[in-house]
Amino acid sequence: METKNDFFNDPILVRTQQISLPILEEKGVELCIKREDEIHPFVSGNKFRKLKYNLLEAQNHQKKTILTFGGAFSNHIVATAVAGKIMGFNTIGVIRGDELVIDFNKTIQGNSTLQKAQKDGMKFEFVSREDYKTKTSKTFLRKLKEKFGDFYLIPEGGTNELAIKGCEEILTTQDSNFDYICCAIGTGGTIAGLINASLKHQKVIGFPALKGDFLSKEIEKYATKNNWYLQTEYHFGGYAKYNSTLIRFINEFKNKTTVLLDPVYTSKMLFGLLEMIKNNNFEKGTKILVIHTGGLQGISGFNKKIKNKNEEIIFLK
Ligand SMILES: *Cc1c(COP(=O)(O)O)cnc(C)c1O
Repeated sequence: METKNDFFNDPILVRTQQISLPILEEKGVELCIKREDEIHPFVSGNKFRKLKYNLLEAQNHQKKTILTFGGAFSNHIVATAVAGKIMGFNTIGVIRGDELVIDFNKTIQGNSTLQKAQKDGMKFEFVSREDYKTKTSKTFLRKLKEKFGDFYLIPEGGTNELAIKGCEEILTTQDSNFDYICCAIGTGGTIAGLINASLKHQKVIGFPALKGDFLSKEIEKYATKNNWYLQTEYHFGGYAKYNSTLIRFINEFKNKTTVLLDPVYTSKMLFGLLEMIKNNNFEKGTKILVIHTGGLQGISGFNKKIKNKNEEIIFLK
């Protein structure tokens, strides 16, 4: 049974799975996946890493309530609700989209992410897209304090100094043999931790899941080395955008390797990485470590949306 004292302090063992595919054989490239997705069904992958030192800090400061921000399908929102419950905190999720509150019951029924977060005690504050943009302003935060009282604030996506400290723990001494480390990027916190924990001879490649060129600046704010670059061509049109090629890729990858990927982050990275391997971007003998950052909780909600459009869904089994 998980108790609030040992959830983040227990040592966690993450397995590294070697992937076998004809293209890897052909190009002489070794590909392994660090299965951070197996840490917890809801506090999975990098969200566990990013919450760890934040929730321990909140505990040290005797905070009772955690407040954070996210979209309606956010892995970070549900991870905060579930980890918060385990640690004995009240949690508040400031959710983008005030249209969701018009028929709240319908919203919850149709959204397994918010449903799980609510079940684990999270209270929601739905805000309009315009207000959401001002969420880091003093005025907005003062209003939240007036409404909810004192809280420990975790930024959108969970990225801050303590989150990066947690993400530095993804890499261990056993990973020193790899030449490249790859991860998907949302806010850039996870890759910053990986860069800081990587060795000088290693290169870290980030695959942004969204369009835009602001990410390098974000990463530079926290990264202590410059042995990294971004591969920006595989966002599939932008954040949470997809096409039938991507869905087919997810299902094929699962069939061939047993590894399930999520449609927002990890599938875009692996699609891109396998293309790079095909295009001879890596020398024979290169060893690549991919971080599976999780996010699998969102698949059932994603399937619900695309089923209505009569498109191929992601097979969970
Ligand atoms: C949140 C998330 C990311 C993005 O992590 P950042 O630290 O924001 O870059 C990547 N993969 C998955 C599965 C996520 O849920």
